[in-house]
Parts: sequence; structure tokens; C-alpha cells
Amino acid sequence: MDLQHWLARATHAIQDWADTFGTYEPHPSLLVDDERFAAAFTEFTGRLKDNYPFFHPHYAGQMLKPPHPAAVVGYLTAMLINPNNHALDGGPATARMEREAVARLAAMFGYDTHLGHLTTSGTIANLEALFVARELHPGRGVAYSADAHYTHGRMCHVLGVKGHPVRTDGQGRLDLQALEDLLRTGEVGTVVLTAGTTGLGVVDPVHEALALKERHGVRLHVDAAYGGFFTLLAGADGPEGLPPEPWRAIARCDSIVVDPHKHGLQPYGCGAVLFRDPEVGRHYLHDSPYTYFTSTELHLGEISLECSRAGAAAAALWLTFQLLPPTPDGLGRVLAAGRRAALDWAGLITASDVLELYQQPELDIVGYFPVVEPATLTGIDAASARILADGMASERPVFLSTLKAGREDFAARHPKITADADGARILRSVLMKPESEHHVEHLHTRVEEIARPR
Ligand SMILES: *Cc1c(COP(=O)(O)O)cnc(C)c1O
Repeated sequence: MDLQHWLARATHAIQDWADTFGTYEPHPSLLVDDERFAAAFTEFTGRLKDNYPFFHPHYAGQMLKPPHPAAVVGYLTAMLINPNNHALDGGPATARMEREAVARLAAMFGYDTHLGHLTTSGTIANLEALFVARELHPGRGVAYSADAHYTHGRMCHVLGVKGHPVRTDGQGRLDLQALEDLLRTGEVGTVVLTAGTTGLGVVDPVHEALALKERHGVRLHVDAAYGGFFTLLAGADGPEGLPPEPWRAIARCDSIVVDPHKHGLQPYGCGAVLFRDPEVGRHYLHDSPYTYFTSTELHLGEISLECSRAGAAAAALWLTFQLLPPTPDGLGRVLAAGRRAALDWAGLITASDVLELYQQPELDIVGYFPVVEPATLTGIDAASARILADGMASERPVFLSTLKAGREDFAARHPKITADADGARILRSVLMKPESEHHVEHLHTRVEEIARPR
């Protein structure tokens, strides 16, 4: 998997194809000499060093990692043509690749019918799902858990519908009792269930929420932007296997969002929205005077709120899926490694006298905090912030992130800690690189060293 080799092949493949149309001279206005290019490039690569090493196993912070080489090669190769997946005129090949890749995502969740497309992000994908939900339940609001992604509230505002945050239980799951109380008011038309919260990877009880669909006539939307690919571990053997019930229930929900740019090995610019009922396409209908000429099929641009979208993003996902398909034996192995890493680290933290587990990880995110004396939220907050900073600044750096945990959430999990503030920052590590599983001991030892009171 030598990236240089494949990138060279990419430029040749596209050049050979381009040459079949006849060669021509580029316009002088576009020419830049190599010396100026070299100077700009040196400055450019120098500036890019102002970054965190997201690729490295010692980076165990936010939800960030570089794309797989297959995605890089797929993206860059298609980008040399630069198709626009808004319409078939914009790039028939990548539009087909998008359809195939989206069908694989729908099959991964067990949808037997679907309508869907890629989007620029999970936020836009959720916006589309909530837009369709609003069209189907005009005048009714949207409920989501207090730990759902912050953009649900924002997108409700954009759509002019009322957002209803619902409290979570002691493990961070949407509290179904509180939800049911809210649904009885009749004000809510759509419930968002999060399959893997962004903060701690908590999976809402999708299977238990299914009954609410009929009982209260609501739509169920699953936000699996981060967690969606973990469905590949549902019911799997071994420690990484996940309880299958919530994952199997997703197939019976009305819409799903998943971000291939999180756990699907893709570069940013790749979210996806899937609807179980293809009929919802009618809500997108519009008449464009310039985009739909070459075919009578429904175009991707006719079922998407966005206009221009990178065909290269579809190409990258398609090529990746040829090599690492969204199956338990394909991408599932990548996710399993991250999940094992989280479980292993949680085990080490449980046995530690300097660190404490905030709660048991459900997917690949570990939340933990330093043991402080006296045990107060203020003390934990300050110590977490110090460890974050010292970890990055150290000679042998480790990169972590912090998460703000609210006072009640803390009390539900750690009642002995004195709640002398609104909440406290805790440490958070997203172990989304499979390599993490071979570096857990190192990470743990370093964090313990940095955390140990001196
Ligand atoms: C990341 C995330 C989003 C937002 O997706 P973007 O691609 O960052 O716009 C929405 N919901 C959940 C659960 C997420 O993890």
C-alpha cells in the first residue's frame, strides 16, 4: 500500500484518459514556474506542521484521524476530473459510485428499501432528515436527548420547529420515561435517537423506543453519525461484541445518519442520510432549468438539499468499500480493534489509584478523571485541564481531550464526589485508530505519570 506508487498511477490513469480527447496547451494565465511553486510549497508544508499528530497512536484525544490510503487515492484520482454529484451531467461515474456506496450503507443497517445520498457532513445529513420529518409532521417538534449532538437544537432553529431536549439516565441514555411524558403532550412529531453519543459513545435504547412509534405516532430518526459503523459489531463474538438489540432495531426506524468521515476511513466532506421509505423523495422535488438533461432517472440532486457535492467523496468511499467493505470481516475488524483498546484501557484505569473511570465505555471512547484529594468537582476540573496541557507539552507527549460533565451527571455516577461546581472537565480519549489497541499500556502509563501528584 505504497501511497506514492498509487498516486503516480492515479495521475497517469487520468492523463491517459484525458489524452484520448487530444492534447492542447494550458493557457499562459494559469502557468506558474516551479521555483515559485517550490517556495510557496515550502511555506505551505511548514505551516501544516502547526497540527496535532492525529495519525499517531499517542494521539488519543478527539474524533480525528487521517483517511485510509484507498480513500486518499480514490479522492485525488476522481478530483483530477472533479465531477459534481449534483446531477448526472456533473459526473455519471461518481454518481453511480455514490448510489452503490449508499446502498451498501443501507444494507449495513438492514434497510430492505431505501432512498439516500451522501452529504457534506453529519450536520447537513441530520438537517435533511429533520427537514423531511417536519414536512411529514408539520407543526410538531423534535425531541432528542440532552447528550445528543448540539447541532440538533441549532437545526431545529433553522427549520423553525421546536426542539425538546430530554434528560438522560445515569448512563447517559435518553430517559424513555421522560420522553414518554413529553410525547403524551402531542407536541412532538419526531424523536432523534443517538446511536453513539459524540461525548462518550453512549447508545440510546433504540429497541425500547420502537414501541413509541405506534403509540404516539412519531417518526424515529437515528443519529449514528459517529457510532453507525459499530453496527458491524452487533452480536459479534469476543469482548468487542455489542448487545445486538439497539443496532438491529435501527432497521425499523424511519431515517439514519452516518458519517463515513468519522468511522468509514474517509476524509472530511462525507456524511450520509438514509430514509427507509423511498417515497420521501417527493419532498425534495424542484425544477432546475439547467441541471437535468442527460437522463430521465431520478438524479441525486433531486433528492438532496445541497447543490454541488464532491464526486470525489463518493469515489473515495466507493474505492474504500471495494477493499474494506462495511461488513464484519471488512471495516468491522477496524472497529473491533478500537473497541478492544477502549475496554483494555478501561480495565487499566479501574485498577489504577491515580485515575478513575467516569463510566464503562460502550464503543471506543473512554472517559476518566484524575483522583484528587479532597474529591471535589473543582479539583477534578483543574487537574484534568493540567493533565491535558502537560500531556501535550511533555517530552514524550500524549494527546488527550476533555469533556465537560455536568453536576447531576457526575452525581449519578460518582455520588461521593463533592459537587462544589456546575460540573467538571474530565479526560476523554477516542480510540478510533486500530493501532490504539497496541499502545494502550503506553498511553495509560504516560497519563498516570502525568497525573500523579508531585
Ligand atoms: C459528529 C456528529 C454529528 C455532526 O456531524 P458533522 O459531520 O461533524 O457535521 C452529529 N451527530 C453526532 C452523533 C456526531 O457524532
